[in-house]
Amino acid sequence: MPVKCRKCQSAKAEVIIPYARLSLCPNCFSEFYVSRIKKTVKEFNMFNENDIVGVAVSGGKDSMALIYALRQAYPKLKVKALHINLGIPEYSAHCQTKVEALTKSLNVDLHIFDLKSKLGFSIDEFKKTVHGGKICSVCGTIKRHVFEELACSHGVNVLATGHNMNDILAFMFKNFLYGKWDQLVRLKPVLPPLAEAMPRKVKPLLRSPENENLLYCLHNEIPFREKNCPFSSEIKGRKYQKAIEAMVPYNPHFLHQLLNRFLEIIPLLEDKLTKPALMRCKQCGFPSSSEICAYCRRISLIKMGKID
Ligand SMILES: [Zn+2]
Ligand SMILES: [Zn+2]
Repeated sequence: MPVKCRKCQSAKAEVIIPYARLSLCPNCFSEFYVSRIKKTVKEFNMFNENDIVGVAVSGGKDSMALIYALRQAYPKLKVKALHINLGIPEYSAHCQTKVEALTKSLNVDLHIFDLKSKLGFSIDEFKKTVHGGKICSVCGTIKRHVFEELACSHGVNVLATGHNMNDILAFMFKNFLYGKWDQLVRLKPVLPPLAEAMPRKVKPLLRSPENENLLYCLHNEIPFREKNCPFSSEIKGRKYQKAIEAMVPYNPHFLHQLLNRFLEIIPLLEDKLTKPALMRCKQCGFPSSSEICAYCRRISLIKMGKID
């Protein structure tokens, strides 16, 4: 006999949540998933109904699940979708199609920054620069800057990203291992605006495990990208994630415990760290710890290459 859902006691249980000792039907799972996001938003005071929340959507399962769930959780909240087309052949067009399909069905405004038409180059051109071996890190720098720019130009005061619990923990663990305390602190659930008129950055999926984002997409027929970025290396990029996930079979609460301990030490670390003095980048005017920000330095590399 099939196992019945623990919540509604009627439908067939299809999703097992070991750490919560729950077996749920797809509907009750979706409710469970959305209510955890609402709790997380409240716990860290991420936004309220007066805010305009921009969701950085890549087309991946996490950010697509996030924007869908935010619509379910807060039907009256002003939500905008922000997307960057990185100009990676095939991959970027594929991602954009998925984002367009979802935002259209959710009736959410979509603002796209097309790297190639706005800046004159695509992310793969960094292959030819000194950053060629670290394309994901350059891409991260570019995306962080462009999302802030998109947020500023579309009146978004809260920028929500789809970082899931496993991602965040892997970054935290890596930074912990190498003693990169300033980077570890940047992973906190809410980052205040860097300067006036800039968005606060929030991570509503902080407590959402990666596999549940996927299940939420599948059970709600949320479109998401099926292609992988040709530049991301599965093995290299996920080794820290695999290391921490290896503990889960021995202790289903492991990820949650680890996250809670990190969240406890972040404020203590923050107190000890000296904050870098921020100035304005001479080129783009964004707050930066150096005269020319990391984004502008990287952009100029490509531009210099183009003049030659
Ligand atoms: Zn149920
Ligand atoms: Zn700059």
